[in-house]
Amino acid sequence: MSEPKPIESWLTDMDGVLVHEGKPIPGAEDFLRTLRESGKPFLVLTNNSMYTPRDLHARLADMGLDVPIESIWTSALATAKFLTGQRPGGTAYVLGESGLTTALHEAGYILTEREPDYVVLGETRTYSFEAITKAIRLIVDGARFIATNPDNTGPSEEGVLPATGSVAALITEATGVEPYFVGKPNPLMMREALNTLSAHSETTAMIGDRMDTDVVAGMEAGLRTFLVLTGTTTREQVDRFPYRPTKVVESIADVVAMV
Ligand SMILES: [Mg+2]
Repeated sequence: MSEPKPIESWLTDMDGVLVHEGKPIPGAEDFLRTLRESGKPFLVLTNNSMYTPRDLHARLADMGLDVPIESIWTSALATAKFLTGQRPGGTAYVLGESGLTTALHEAGYILTEREPDYVVLGETRTYSFEAITKAIRLIVDGARFIATNPDNTGPSEEGVLPATGSVAALITEATGVEPYFVGKPNPLMMREALNTLSAHSETTAMIGDRMDTDVVAGMEAGLRTFLVLTGTTTREQVDRFPYRPTKVVESIADVVAMV
């Protein structure tokens, strides 16, 4: 077997890899600085579709992490890119926050409640019964159902929050229609990230803290995968999966030397 090619570009998950509960993970700052100085293309990925890259840049900066706006890749951006590829200049009814509405606007989509091509569901903290009812009726009337990510819950300092996957389940129960989920573990999220960087799968690595999303999606997109143990998946759980990462490391601090 031939030696693997050097890693020329990097994708990394955000929560559980670079930050945890609003604090930077030791090594994250060093990793990001090393990456920026190397000049290698990279993207920081998140399945959360609530925030714009500009919002996330500011939130990370508050934690002392410098990630350029153009180096942030959200499931909202991936969804907008997917939809413009499928149906350029289409229309959508959106249940979500500015992260999603801004991404769709910038992709040339028109947001409307009248016979939209799609109902697009993302994260929000203000799900209203009225808006969910509207979405359900539009899907019953023929709108296609897209969701930014399948996560059922998200973290907060007070405890778990219902996330996009939970609200998607509610809409599915009411309509009998399953959404197409764009975010991880769909490898589409990785492929679009690669296209955005003009990177190649065989010379790109993905870093994540979850076997069932980051590692499986990275593997299916043909990337090398690094699992860090500072988030969801524990070392004991790794062997239970029918696939494995290229390498398991304690934390992002152990990846710095590989950049
Ligand atoms: Mg994570």
